[in-house]
Amino acid sequence: MRSTASILHLDLDAFFAAVEQRDKPSLRGKPVIVGGTGGRGVVSTASYEAREFGVGSAMSGREARARCPHAAFLSGRFHAYRDTSKRVMQVLRELSPLVEPLSLDEAFVDLAAADLPDLEVATVTAAGAELRRRVQEVTGGLTATVGIASSKFLAKVASELDKPDGMTVVAPGTELDLLRPMKVKVIPGVGPATAERLRRAGIHTVADLEAVAEGELVRLLGQAQGHGLWQLARAQDSRPVVSEREAKSISVEGTYDSDLTDRKLMEGLLSRQAREVGTRMRKNGFSGRTVTIKVRLYDFTTLNRSSTLTSPTDDGATIARIARSLLADLDTTGGVRLLGVGVSGLADWVQEDLFGETAEDEEAEVVLPEPPRRTWPPGADVVHDEMGAGWVWGSGSGVVTVRFETADTPPGPVRSFRIDDPALHRWEPPAEE
Ligand SMILES: [Mg+2]
Repeated sequence: MRSTASILHLDLDAFFAAVEQRDKPSLRGKPVIVGGTGGRGVVSTASYEAREFGVGSAMSGREARARCPHAAFLSGRFHAYRDTSKRVMQVLRELSPLVEPLSLDEAFVDLAAADLPDLEVATVTAAGAELRRRVQEVTGGLTATVGIASSKFLAKVASELDKPDGMTVVAPGTELDLLRPMKVKVIPGVGPATAERLRRAGIHTVADLEAVAEGELVRLLGQAQGHGLWQLARAQDSRPVVSEREAKSISVEGTYDSDLTDRKLMEGLLSRQAREVGTRMRKNGFSGRTVTIKVRLYDFTTLNRSSTLTSPTDDGATIARIARSLLADLDTTGGVRLLGVGVSGLADWVQEDLFGETAEDEEAEVVLPEPPRRTWPPGADVVHDEMGAGWVWGSGSGVVTVRFETADTPPGPVRSFRIDDPALHRWEPPAEE
């Protein structure tokens, strides 16, 4: 914990849904739900209008439909979210060189590294207000909520207090006044199981937790968690803001037209990517110790899993084997949109392969399923030769219905076409790597 409120946490409000409302004027002010469109899908983000009906993240699409049947259910457009996120992160980096993104819509900013005259409450408050104004400006009207405090923990707690479109600055010295009345689950790492254990011990609030001796917490929860909670109950958190490391890495990834569900196919794709990574590493004379896979699920959750070897490798078969074993631990039953493999922690020398042999192992032949010739997921961007840009309002029975409007137009007209109408095209930005 610092003596100044110099850590800022920014969280965009209902991010995916807000991007959809920006780009689809007819949906502004209406319940919008991103995700949960397919049979197995879950809600990724609900707009505040949908939250009023009790719809929330991670709820099944079926339940969301029951609670808010008149909502617009959209399948999501990752390219638009990524592009908007980039603009926000750029604004944060203009404020301070020390930015730690947590996800597309959330980041810590170290104000101590910013070019501010001082770190008084009034100064950081003004910086936070200006930042929120800039975010709105560069995103075409999206709002963010900001928390500013003396630690990451408190900054994150503070950014939850005034959602949406708000800001809370916790003055140094008042951290415990804020925390004490809060429920223990405000503390990171206190999930339902830990909260239940604490509840049985009569511990409900942070104040209750603060009154418990460290030894007793360790007995209750084990050394690591007990000690951690004892510290956080006192607002003691000295974790620094760490900007993305400029670690050298080589990676290959692919996005897929239809969600992948076949594990054998996913393994085959990862293996193929791993071989390509290995080839590129050898061409550049590099090797690395950390193999990472990236898996984006149907609901846009992106999972990264890594494994670090004792010695560097540049061998595709080795990288593939590790990638497949990392995939084995993930639940991909809902479908996968993106797969990638990377190797980092590069060294310019190669030691003997950890596995001793580099023979190609047996791999399933990789044949991507033919994507449905033309799919029209709800919410997807389309262009019609005469009508121009719009988005898929719905489809079925051989007909696709499109609303022709964009972020820069008023709410537009709805037209229907045969699904194989040659004048109608899906629109996606060119892939960038
Ligand atoms: Mg958010």
